[in-house]
Amino acid sequence: MPTMAAKRDYYEVLGVKKDSSTDEIKKAYKKLALANHPDRNPGDQAAVDRFKEAAEAFEVLSESDKRARYDRFGHDGVKGAGHAGGGFQDVGDIFEMFGDLFEGFGGRGRRRGGGARATQGDHLKASLTIDLPEAAKGCSREIEIKRRELCGTCHGSGAKAGSTAAKCDYCNGQGQVVQSQGFFRVQTTCPACRGEGKIVRDKCADCSGSGRKVEKVRLEARIPPGVDTGMSLCLRGEGEPGTNGGPRGDLYVEINVKDHNLFERDGQDLICHVPITYSQAALGADIEVPTLDGKKNQHIDAGTHSGEVFRIRGGGMPDPRGGRAGDLLVEVHIEVPKKVSDEQRELLLKLAELEQANVSQHRSSFFDKVKDWFTGENS
Ligand SMILES: [Zn+2]
Ligand SMILES: [Zn+2]
Repeated sequence: MPTMAAKRDYYEVLGVKKDSSTDEIKKAYKKLALANHPDRNPGDQAAVDRFKEAAEAFEVLSESDKRARYDRFGHDGVKGAGHAGGGFQDVGDIFEMFGDLFEGFGGRGRRRGGGARATQGDHLKASLTIDLPEAAKGCSREIEIKRRELCGTCHGSGAKAGSTAAKCDYCNGQGQVVQSQGFFRVQTTCPACRGEGKIVRDKCADCSGSGRKVEKVRLEARIPPGVDTGMSLCLRGEGEPGTNGGPRGDLYVEINVKDHNLFERDGQDLICHVPITYSQAALGADIEVPTLDGKKNQHIDAGTHSGEVFRIRGGGMPDPRGGRAGDLLVEVHIEVPKKVSDEQRELLLKLAELEQANVSQHRSSFFDKVKDWFTGENS
């Protein structure tokens, strides 16, 4: 940035004569601003300084009263007026003040200065309930949401057919009002047009001048395999429309996975409770267990206890982030029949007889402990 001592003559900065017209000054400034535009000279501080210096010169020479004071008193005559004297601290201020001069050049000039500020539309939320096999495999679901869309009648302008929205006088179409208070520049949303930069006098009947209409929209949501309750899916750009050319918001779809009657979920693992008989537990068996991919054989060792868990690796839920899949934990439970047939009763009685005569070491110590407890010994 040029220092006070080294401040160049504004006419010299813009390369114009003392008697140049406002148009010539504007043209000269535009040429300099485009040549030294930060978007064209990334990382070039000298260009940024020239860009700021040119804006400062233009700010003074483009306004007749400031120019007259400058012509009479030089730099001292315009000290404290606008940015003259202190210079522009921030390139963004230049875009805000003179941005419409860069219209058509693209980049920041147009977005920041060409009118009211572009803002992204609001994000929306929706929810979706799927069942466990769908969550495991991933699925595609159509969802219906209500969101505001640009009104088809006025194409979002809010103005009645044949009329156009007028530029807001209060903010001169900028959507923002800037107040200078000493060194501070306070920028606020224009109260007259609420930042739109336009005022609709003849309102479109279909949208009451808002330019938006609530519509039902059907969208396809693709759900990746492995999702769990509470996870959210983001559909980029499916929220409400932005204002002044800003991007749409996003739609967040919260997933709810229904409980399953066979599989209990524990993170990416699934737990399945499988009943086995006493004889299967005692003798060992190959039992059929349900998995997400159909039935599978699982070997049960002889002497299996109720509540013992067999792990089927990779039989759980996939990882939605692409990691290792969870396991299926088969928890076996010995089922005691409520009713027994005559033959079963006979065999069980025989078994009971055998067990009385032939009590195992483990069982005898267990029953000894119980007996001791009740008789108050060793407790
Ligand atoms: Zn309309
Ligand atoms: Zn306004």
